[in-house]
Amino acid sequence: MVYTCKKCLFMFDRVGLVERCPDCGSENFRPASKEEKAEFERFQKEFSRKSEDRTA
Ligand SMILES: [Zn+2]
Repeated sequence: MVYTCKKCLFMFDRVGLVERCPDCGSENFRPASKEEKAEFERFQKEFSRKSEDRTA
C-alpha cells in the first residue's frame, strides 16, 4: 500500500502497519489516491531503470 505524508508530502510503499512517515517522522499521513499511486509507481520504475543502467 502506498501512503502520502500530509506534512512533507513524502510517498512511501509499505506492507502492513505504518506508524510514522519514514522521512519526517510525522504520524499525519494517509493512503495515496489512485493518481498518486500511479505517479509513485512510474517514479519507482524510472528509478530502478536508471540504477540498472548505472550497474551495467
Ligand atoms: Zn513526512
